[in-house]
Amino acid sequence: MATDAYRQLLEATVQHLESLREQGVRSVTVQPETLKALRPPVGSAPPRGPAERSASGFPPPSQVASKPAAVAPPIPTATRRLDLGSPLPPDAKKAALEELHARALDCIRCPHLAASRNHVVFGVGDLHAQILFVGEAPGADEDAEGEPFVGRAGELLTRILQAMGLTRDTVYIANVLKCRPDTPGQQVGNRKPTTEEMHTCLPYLEEQIRIIRPKVMVALGGTAIEGLIGRSVQVTRIRGQWLQFHDIPLMPTYHPAYLLRNEAISEKRKVWEDMLAVMERIGLPISEKQRRFFTKPA
Ligand code: SF4
Repeated sequence: MATDAYRQLLEATVQHLESLREQGVRSVTVQPETLKALRPPVGSAPPRGPAERSASGFPPPSQVASKPAAVAPPIPTATRRLDLGSPLPPDAKKAALEELHARALDCIRCPHLAASRNHVVFGVGDLHAQILFVGEAPGADEDAEGEPFVGRAGELLTRILQAMGLTRDTVYIANVLKCRPDTPGQQVGNRKPTTEEMHTCLPYLEEQIRIIRPKVMVALGGTAIEGLIGRSVQVTRIRGQWLQFHDIPLMPTYHPAYLLRNEAISEKRKVWEDMLAVMERIGLPISEKQRRFFTKPA
């Protein structure tokens, strides 16, 4: 198909440019006929914004040159189309993840974050996990310890996992952004990562997903959902509804920090119902007692 050929050409071009950039090349001369060949074929769908990117994670040249179409359906259902390829053999996963981790440790794609971070917070858990939990970015606690979801919100996530019959060692936990959003001039507190920061770092998470190949993903909080699907959403509107991320079912739910701020049993029940849906989706056993959690005040 012409569209497949076009995509292959585009991927090859992006990979070549990235390789040149890694060698320190900052500009290239492009012949007019090359530019013509990179133009999208007639009838192909135009890029839809940051949610659609090449296999390398960088926007295709056509997206840089033209304005993305402003299409924002109220509730996204299928957002990304990256081919995940064949699953890695189990014994190849460890080496692949270690190699990716090593690259992230040296990453300076966001110079301001690389300069201020204490740790690159890559991710923890089982590289054969069925469930991948995704948060937005490391906070001060995570940056200090080098592990995602520590501190009070992390403790609550651990308790949610225990209620599901799981542990932190039997799932995988990562963030969209691997470095803590800097807070210049501020001694304490965290800030929300920008869309651009998450877009820049997302290829690392996508590689983690390719390697781990979870059966389902859980996005914790509106910012993480935004980082994954590439546009702003109201978590109150889409939590509990299955989305797709690279053909992997994605359950959006509230961030544990939200439950710390709002202790209403009704809000806990909403998150628990989302977790029940996740458990059902991957065939985990659910007891009657588990089904009734948070249906009445303790
Ligand atoms: S946030 Fe991600 S892309 Fe940016 S410097 Fe850190 S690891 Fe690199």
